Amino acid sequence: MFPLAKTPARVKVRIWENCGYFYVLRRFGECWESISRHKTRDRAATRVELEMQLMDWAEDVKMRAHYTCEVPGCWERDKALLHAHHKKPKSTNPEDMLDPENGECVCIWHHAVRHWANKVVRNMILAKLGFIEGVRKHPEDKKLVA
Ligand SMILES: [Zn+2]
Repeated sequence: MFPLAKTPARVKVRIWENCGYFYVLRRFGECWESISRHKTRDRAATRVELEMQLMDWAEDVKMRAHYTCEVPGCWERDKALLHAHHKKPKSTNPEDMLDPENGECVCIWHHAVRHWANKVVRNMILAKLGFIEGVRKHPEDKKLVA
């Protein structure tokens, strides 16, 4: 059956202060990844707020696609492998960043294909594969299965 309920947010966000900088960290499996660095706590807090909104946006996009890669013929349904892709990039269209219509649910492979022209972004996406086992081992996964 298609999971129609929203996935509980496994990924958490927090601020980490180090050497005078404020880092926004995002939980990824058993690891924390740094997503941005700020000079003030206020700015970091603003980024945390946006990150939470983006996580909600991503969850809405995936739920709308019934947690299935939307590339025709793919049918990937492993939640650990699904990403929400911005059709119009955040960098050039920040006003559409949280618009569900600007989102597409794709598997990690097709997400890498979407960003193939940009080697840095492509590798950042594919690097997440190294953490997939960690994601599956996360205790929250048991709740998802039950
Ligand atoms: Zn796919």
